[in-house]
This record gives sequence, structure tokens and C-alpha cells, in this order.
Amino acid sequence: MALNLYNSSRVVSRDDQVICGASRARYFPMVIQSGKGSCFTDLDGNDYIDFSSSAAVLNTGHSHPRVLKAIKAQLDQYIHFSCDYLYAEPQVKLAEAICRIVPGDYKKKVSFGHSGSDAIDGAIKLARAYTKRPGIVSFMGAYHGSTFGALSASAICHEMRRGIGPLLPGFQHLPYPNCFRCSLEHARSTCGLACFSMLEEAFSTYIVPEETAAILIEPIAGDMGFIEPPEAYMTALQRFCRKHGILLIADEVQQGMGRTGRWFSFEHFNLEPDIVVMGKALGSGLPISAVVAREEISNALEMPAHLFTLQGNAVAAAAALATIETIEEERLIENAKMMGDFLKSRFRALMKDYQVIGDVRGRGLSIGVELLADRELKTPDPEAAVKITYECFQKGLLMLFLSSNVLRIQPPLILDAATAEKAVDIVEGAVKAYSKNQLGDEAL
Ligand code: PLP
Repeated sequence: MALNLYNSSRVVSRDDQVICGASRARYFPMVIQSGKGSCFTDLDGNDYIDFSSSAAVLNTGHSHPRVLKAIKAQLDQYIHFSCDYLYAEPQVKLAEAICRIVPGDYKKKVSFGHSGSDAIDGAIKLARAYTKRPGIVSFMGAYHGSTFGALSASAICHEMRRGIGPLLPGFQHLPYPNCFRCSLEHARSTCGLACFSMLEEAFSTYIVPEETAAILIEPIAGDMGFIEPPEAYMTALQRFCRKHGILLIADEVQQGMGRTGRWFSFEHFNLEPDIVVMGKALGSGLPISAVVAREEISNALEMPAHLFTLQGNAVAAAAALATIETIEEERLIENAKMMGDFLKSRFRALMKDYQVIGDVRGRGLSIGVELLADRELKTPDPEAAVKITYECFQKGLLMLFLSSNVLRIQPPLILDAATAEKAVDIVEGAVKAYSKNQLGDEAL
């Protein structure tokens, strides 16, 4: 079958692969026909285990019966009703549920959008309106979305910025605290948190604290390859923000909704962000996102300043409410932690036999397996990532990769042990074949 496939925003064909940053386009000649649980079937009748969750969207799996039931029930009532101060019931219930799952015993307000990107823009607007300051500080290598605000905060690769500028003024980027590849070349045990000293230095030289509205951070950096800052860095960051009246925005679009073994990844660091942004898995695949903030922060923004006709659509809101209920009632957060620990231990065991596996990290069901050509020098092996993911695909496991050389393991949170075992066996087979130089070049 001749196909044109989408990669990022560009159409690619088999002979016209796109290079995005350092990573090659993933070419999977497949179109999905149906999905159930952790698996799906393509148009040719081939079955796959889904280790992508469609980029961390399908936390409840494909077509969870409870989510489907809620969508169908809402469709039978009405599809949409929302305009300025008019609300639909699922929106109201969803806002209440979101305020409940976001930690913090204070009054919160929620506003809805359709995507992680527009929600990040909403958070930026809130921070500027509340603090009456223009500056937004985020991190190098971060991805926060495609709208102009979210893109201005992102700093991931030229291809996402080239030819569309100028982006928005007022944005600065600092190095993300990455102990696996420390930009200051320190060892973790002796660094004395030099990365945080660097942040302080930036704020005492070229970034003016009293002109900075917010620091925007993904507490576990997904698209950087599942990088987790040291806890002491996050504690210091929180303190620094409070001292200077800078708001802390947590981007939970990818890692939120139970994926890391807590509702939100900032909980691993005991952070208390002022604004929390969520999307992706919130609607189990229907377009809905949310910005949650303290009431007084939310009140700073006049309503028309962040208004979309279809925001908080009733069907998407019903799906989101059912998603939260499903995650709670089926104890999917606990399952994410348990299955994640199991997968990590299996992948770590493979490190002994296969030099190409250089690091295994992550929390819950957001796991990164970093592939290296040289462990000592930490030289990335992007060819291994392309060939191994393609071999897995051919053997019935869909898995993406990030940052050119990190296998991106993000299965649905409903994953069961038998499916996890089967998937690891497929990955092991592919890693073994790669290590023995048995994989061809067709995926390159
Ligand atoms: N923030 C993070 C951390 C993301 O991973 C993404 C998408 O990948 C976004 C924001 C943007 O979300 P969306 O693609 O729904 O606009």
C-alpha cells in the first residue's frame, strides 16, 4: 500500500524522510483500524502492542469502555453548550474533579482549552496578568507546544522555529538540570548543585527577577528523554520563585494524569506550583486541556483574554470526567508505578548483556532507555534507536523514540504483566539483533 504519513506537521513518504532536530523520522507503514486496551490492529489485520499511547494520550488505553460510555451518553444529551458565562454540566463536574486531584488546600479555578499548547499560552497570560511582569523563563531542550506563546517558551530544535519568527518577546531559556549530561560537566555526588547556582547567576546578571512573571518547567522533561532534576534543585527553585514573587508553572501536559505514578509529576518533588497545565491524556483522546491556578491568580485575567468558542466542549469534558474516574477506580496510578518498576528492572537487567543500553530511567510508565555507541563517553547511538524501534514495529510493538537516541516507553496505564513481558521480549530481540549487527538499513 502506498502511503503518505504524517511526521510532526509534515507529510512524509517512504522515500522522503524528514530529519527533525537530530532525530530521523520514524517510518511506520501502518494505518490503525481499531484499538482496544494496550493493543491495536492495522488495516491489514496486523496486531500491535502500543508502547506509545499515541504520545502519552491514551492513559486509559484504547477505547476504554467507561470512557466510551460517557462519550455516547453525552452525545445523546447534547454535543456542546458553552459561551462566556454559560456552562455545560460535564464542564462543571470536570472542573470540580480537577480541583480535587490537583494537590493544594486552597481555592482553585480551572479554565479549559483544546490542546496542551493553548493551555500553556493561557498559563503564560495568567502569570503576566497577575504579576504585571512580562518575563517568562523556561528551559533549553523543553517542548511546551506549537502556539506562539508555547513555542516561544520551547527550545527544542531549529525546525520548530525556522521561518516563522519573530516569536514572542520576553522569553529566556536556561539549561535544564540534567545529571546524566551535566552542562557544567560536574559529577552528581560532588556538584554542590552548580546548576542552581547558574540559575541564580543568570538572575543576578541578565534576567531581572522583578520583571519575571513565571518560571515554566516540565518537572520531568519528557521530550528531552525523561530527564528528572535533582530534588534539591526543585526545592531551591520553589524557594527562589517565592522569594522573588515569580510564579511557578508546572507543565504536566505529558507527564500528568497518573503517568508517572502520581497524578502529577511535580508531586515527586513536593512542589507547590502556582499554575498547573494539563492536556493530552485528560480527555483520553478527545481534545481538551486545562489550566488550574489559585483563585486570586485566575481572577487576574479578564475572561475575554483567553477565550475559545469550543473550549470545554461537553463531549470532551464528559470523556475527561470518565478518564479521571477510571484512573481512580481502576487504581491506574498504582498500576503505572508497579508496571513501570517491572519494566525498568527488566530493561536494567538487559544492560548487563547489551552495551548499547546506556541508561534506563523514568517514573511510572514514562521510561527512557538511552542507547549509546560508547557508554564511557555517553556517545548517542541514533542509528540504534531507528533500527531497534523499526524492528520492534515489525515484530508487533509500536514504540517511539526521543532526543534521537532514547527509546520512549509510554504504554497505557492499564498495561498488564503478560503484555509487558511480551513487549520486553520484543525489545530484547531487537536489541540483540542490533548488537549482532543483524538489522538491515531499511528504516534509516
Ligand atoms: N507540553 C508538553 C510537555 C508536551 O509534551 C506537549 C506535546 O507534546 C505540549 C505541551 C503541547 O501539547 P499539544 O500537542 O496538545 O498542544
